[in-house]
Amino acid sequence: MRGQMMDRPLLVSLLIEYAGRYHGDTEIVTRAVEGGIRRSSYAAVERRACQLANAFARLGVAPGDRVATLAWNTDRHIELYYAISSMGAVCHTINPRLFREQIRYIVNHAADKIVCLDLSFVPLAESLADELVPVRHYVIMSDRVHMPATPLAGALCYEELIAAETTDFAWPSLDENTAAALCYTSGTTGNPKGALFSHRSTVLHAFSVCAAGLIGLSMDDTVLPVVPQFHVNAWGVPYAAAMCGAKLVLPGAALDGASLYELFEAEQVTVSLGVPTVWLALLQHLEANKLKFSSLQRTVIGGSAVPPAMIRSFEETYGVRVIHAWGMTEISPIGTANTLKKKLAALPPDERFAVQTKQGRAVFGVDLKLVDAAGAEQPHDGVARGELLVRGPWVIDGYYKDAEASLAVFDEAGWFRTGDVATIDDDGYLQIVDRIKDVVKSGGEWISSIDVENAAIGHPDIAEAAVIAVPHPRWGERPLLVVVGRQGRVPDKASVLQYLAGLLAKWQLPDDVVVVAELPHTATGKLLKTQLREMFRNYPLPEA
Ligand code: ADP
Repeated sequence: MRGQMMDRPLLVSLLIEYAGRYHGDTEIVTRAVEGGIRRSSYAAVERRACQLANAFARLGVAPGDRVATLAWNTDRHIELYYAISSMGAVCHTINPRLFREQIRYIVNHAADKIVCLDLSFVPLAESLADELVPVRHYVIMSDRVHMPATPLAGALCYEELIAAETTDFAWPSLDENTAAALCYTSGTTGNPKGALFSHRSTVLHAFSVCAAGLIGLSMDDTVLPVVPQFHVNAWGVPYAAAMCGAKLVLPGAALDGASLYELFEAEQVTVSLGVPTVWLALLQHLEANKLKFSSLQRTVIGGSAVPPAMIRSFEETYGVRVIHAWGMTEISPIGTANTLKKKLAALPPDERFAVQTKQGRAVFGVDLKLVDAAGAEQPHDGVARGELLVRGPWVIDGYYKDAEASLAVFDEAGWFRTGDVATIDDDGYLQIVDRIKDVVKSGGEWISSIDVENAAIGHPDIAEAAVIAVPHPRWGERPLLVVVGRQGRVPDKASVLQYLAGLLAKWQLPDDVVVVAELPHTATGKLLKTQLREMFRNYPLPEA
């Protein structure tokens, strides 16, 4: 028997209509790329999204067309999200930190018709324009006063484009499975691969971001996503904030510790989200200047493993709760979040921090399973390791126009292979052991590079650590620890190894420690281990 309920599609346009109507005066505050602070609201963003949609329609954007953005977190970028998806086109966020070759590839692969870009990225677009074949127009996200003189063919001024249009646009009633947004994974090997999110997956994911089991975002919150809108849609915050009417604070291009701190305080931010490297810089700024947060309550950290020392420092020094989360571009991106079961919240701090170091429990909607190399399912006992597979309504079922890449990533039952090795304990807490390609295979044992990095980061002289496998004649591979010193200090090898000996088994200890000025990162802030492996390919280990 069918239920007798209305079949109303879950659409991105509903989010901005709702926020415009019921949270119309709630602020959206931006550190503008041109300088200064700009104050907007959900009502204004809704009106301007309608104007943009009219402008795009006039420029020939048809349903399903890709309109790209090369932009920081700003109110205009939020307007673009809503205008493009709501009119039935696809909002393709380009990560400007990708290599030029990758940007060239994805713009052509996506066949972007229009690219909307911040002033910061005009030189990048100018230098690539000859190779961006499908692009008809460049919309520069600026007013007339700040428009640069540019040779970009068909360059348009965002504010002029909007000003010429009416604030009425009837959002089409789309099938909820229509594509809404496109995001390419940076792909450390091969070409980037596109995850094509639907309206339905986007709205369902937004419910999940608002849920108490994750951030519990609400209209009482002021949320500042440090994670860029070009990195898996700022983890869904632009949609979730509209859904619950949270005040949005957008940092624009200024992601250094001092600028972020100033914004956190001036706007009384209560919740934030970002990758560990960003918090590293922010915490160093606070430490160096003896500062405290006056309003921040909780922060979601993911994208890479959060060092235990960071969770402790946030809580004990700054009174901020860390919610460690795990996800991937292919999962929209959130899969798990570390909020504590009642019995675990009552544990003594050290035991509790150990639990919080894990990547957390599946959010409703995402199923997890672990399989061994032969595909046999592994128990959730906190010990058995296996590759992590997932399924759910916001997990991709194929890569955009890439049948070959799609073939390799699903098992026979249709679960998505994450490429992560993990354990899951009997309370359901997932712990990422490593990427399959990053574990160090030493003799018969697997050494988790993440375990060694987490241990190393606790050393007082170490700011950041990376462990890679180096070929070894006897053991096959052995771990090499590469570190960056904290605040100009140079970590001493003997002291680091002695420190690690208290935390790791003997066979897990790195064979050598190298100090570098800086570690290479991917476009999304992860350690770029392929480059490190290349740099240390012929590294002579002491006893080898
Ligand atoms: P890209 O590097 O292309 O942006 P993603 O952001 O999709 O790729 O990266 C997803 C991967 O990041 C996961 O498969 C996992 O290896 C890693 N990752 C994400 N969150 C965490 C976390 N909290 N702890 C450890 N690894 C994480």
